[in-house]
Formats: sequence, C-alpha cells, structure tokens
Amino acid sequence: MSLSFENTHNAFAYKSTSDLKKAKFLISIIQSPIMVALATKLTPVFIKLGLPINGLLRSTVFKQFVGGETLEESARTSKLLGSYGVQVILDYGVEAKEGEANFDIVTEHIIEEIDFAATQNNIPFVSVKLTGIASHKLLENLNEAPRLRSGVHDSESEDAAWQRVRERMVAICDVAQEKGIGILLDAEETWIQDPIDRLAIELMSIYNKEKVIVYNTYQLYRNDRLHFLQLSHRISKEKNFLLGAKLVRGAYMEKERARAQKNGYPSPIHIDKESTDKDFNAAALYCLENKETISLLLATHNEKSNLQIANNMQQLGIPNNSHQIHFSQLYGMGDHITFNMAIMGYNVSKYLPYGPINEVIPYLMRRAEENSSVNGQTNNELLLLKKELKRRKAK
Ligand SMILES: Cc1cc2nc3c(=O)[nH]c(=O)nc-3n(C[C@H](O)[C@H](O)[C@H](O)COP(=O)(O)OP(=O)(O)OC[C@H]3O[C@@H](n4cnc5c(N)ncnc54)[C@H](O)[C@@H]3O)c2cc1C
Repeated sequence: MSLSFENTHNAFAYKSTSDLKKAKFLISIIQSPIMVALATKLTPVFIKLGLPINGLLRSTVFKQFVGGETLEESARTSKLLGSYGVQVILDYGVEAKEGEANFDIVTEHIIEEIDFAATQNNIPFVSVKLTGIASHKLLENLNEAPRLRSGVHDSESEDAAWQRVRERMVAICDVAQEKGIGILLDAEETWIQDPIDRLAIELMSIYNKEKVIVYNTYQLYRNDRLHFLQLSHRISKEKNFLLGAKLVRGAYMEKERARAQKNGYPSPIHIDKESTDKDFNAAALYCLENKETISLLLATHNEKSNLQIANNMQQLGIPNNSHQIHFSQLYGMGDHITFNMAIMGYNVSKYLPYGPINEVIPYLMRRAEENSSVNGQTNNELLLLKKELKRRKAK
C-alpha cells in the first residue's frame, strides 16, 4: 500500500460531524484576509472590555486549534490523538512577555511541560521559542554584534543577560535529557536568528552526544539555509555530536521582505515559491542521506513534500517508523496528512498549542494572519472538510 492523502475518512475519524461543520465555518473565515484583520482587531478589544466572548471563542477557534487551557486539559486531546497513532509536540502558546521574571516563569513552565510529557506515551517533543525566555532587544543586538567592526561584543550587561538565557536553556535541556524528551528550538526572524543558531549549535554539542535531544529549526524560504544546514552538519561531525534538524519553509515571509525593502538590504527570502520548495526538498533529502548523524523533523503541510520525502525514504531503504524521521503538522490543520501517515506507521505528530484562553488568543490571531497570507493552504483544508461532510451525508 503506498502513501496517499486522499482518504478523508481516516483524516477526520476523530472529529464529529458537528465539529467538522464548525471547522468548515472557521476555515472559511480564516481564508478571508478582511475577516481575519477584523477579528484580530476586535477580539482583543472585546476581551479587554470584558464582553462575554470566551465561551464563543472556546467552542470555536480554541477548540479547533488549541489542545486546552492547561496541561491536564491538553492531555485529553493528546490521548485522543494517541489513540489514532498520532504523536504530539507540546507548545505553550502564550505570547512572549518581556522581563527577566517573566522569562524565569516561562522556563519553569517549559520544565513542567517536559516532566508532564515524560508521563505520556505519545509526547516525544516540546517546542521552545527563545523569545519566550530572552529579550527581543537583546537578541537583536547580539544578532548585530558579530557584524560590528571589532567583532567583539563588549556590553557587560548584555553579556550577563545572555548568560542567564544560556542558563535557562541549560536547565531546560538538562531535564529534557534526563527524561528523554526532545527540545525543538523554533526559528524566528532573520534579525534575531543568529544568536539562536549559535546557542542551538552549542546546546547540540552538549546534549546530542548519544541521541538527539536538541533540534534547531531551518527555514528553507531563506536563500542561505540549505548551505547553513550543511555547514551545521559539518560542524557536528567535526565536534562529534549528532545534528537535530527541524525543517520548515518559514512563517515570516512578508515581514522579512518588507523590512529588507524598507532598510535597503537584499531580501533573505527566496525569489519565488519554487526555489523555496526546491531547497526544502533538497534539505530533507540531504538529512535522509545522512541519517546516521542527523535526526530529522519535517514540519510541513505540503502534500508534495511529504510524499516525496516518504518516497525518498523508501528508495533509501529507511523504514516508515524510523525513529530518526518525524513528520509534523499544526493541530487543526493538515489532518489528511497526519492521520493517513499515522496509519502507514510513520512517526507523525500534531503541534499542539495550549494555554489560558485570554493569553492564547493573540497567538491564534497571529497564526490566522500567517495562514490567511498563505495562498492555497486554507482553501485545500476547506475542500477536504467539504469532501468528508459530503461523504458522511451520503452514507
Ligand atoms: C509543526 C510546525 C512547526 C513550525 N515551526 C516553525 C518555526 O519554528 N519557525 C517558522 O518560521 N515557521 C514554523 N512553522 C511554519 C512554517 O514555516 C510555514 O509557514 C507553514 O508550515 C507553511 O509552509 P508549508 O510547508 O506547510 O506549506 P506550503 O504551502 O507548501 O508553503 C507555504 C510557505 O512557502 C513559502 N513561500 C510561499 N510563497 C513564497 C514565495 N513567493 N517565495 C518564497 N517562498 C514562498 C513561505 O515560507 C510559506 O509560508 C511551523 C509549521 C509547522 C507545521
């Protein structure tokens, strides 16, 4: 049997017909940039005014895209996914707040998350955004530091703040290693990414000696990332550690292009989608060909990429359930990929955000804005939902 994403019965078996109808309604709203712009402006205002919209949000957008308000609540969602052979990547979906005290709270929270993941049998990873535990300004300054003429970063207070960020990550990775849970370090905008990459390499060199605990994220919409992935791999071989590579296309295309244009530097983003796709698939193949020393997590909703990579695995004689190869899609999207891959024995997971409703809403709004700017993706989701609803009606 070869892999196919056509089967909507498999894809949506975990959803009731009423859930599917709600999902169809929601996705059709997200498809409209005007509706998304309106919702992103009005929802926070309604929340601030204390209007009773939490119930509505909880039963609609929250239910579709979020695991729950607490770890315990998201355990119910993750157990349901587990019963279909689907794994989970936990993501504390609260937007980053500035301040050392907040960074420490987030660190503690991530450690709790790792402890919790270790008690479940289908949560192999937690995701970490460095902007949750480090100041944006600090990351921006450190990003520039190596480019300064002296090449030396000479701010003592910033060095101390960076040291604290390192310590937070070390505390997180120590627990992750002890409990055998993978840490996925998210990729962010180019103007803060360099320190994240440097820290990721350092952490991998400490924690990825025998198995991969830390994964860095490579955004293949950047025209330098295929090379950077290969460079990271070379460094890992020289320094004798294993590389963890999470591959994405990248979420900030419009922002990146706009900033490059405004500030008069060449855009770091590929000139067209085809070039992004080419690099994404090439990066995946490179990782598969080097699977002795690279563990791979493919985070994509792109059907062609998922099929091509599954094909490459077969050609290279890599079993579907190889523990070094994982696939992942966001909770509430790409179910036709996730559930059909799970049935075929692949390691596939849902990226599951959770957190208190008022704090997760801004995150969801940002995601909705990203999605409405990704042409085609939501349209496909809508077609699949309609197909399944039609199939159920005809039964
Ligand atoms: C589990 C998971 C984790 C993720 N983690 C991160 C993360 O840490 N950091 C991050 O930045 N993103 C992350 N993302 C989002 C990801 O980068 C993409 O934005 C999203 O998945 C859409 O890409 P795709 O491969 O799924 O689908 P596709 O529809 O095939 O690709 C859409 C993407 O292609 C690129 N693209 C579109 N048009 C063009 C164009 N004209 N020129 C060049 N490139 C173009 C853009 O990156 C766009 O987002 C994650 C996604 C998932 C599923």
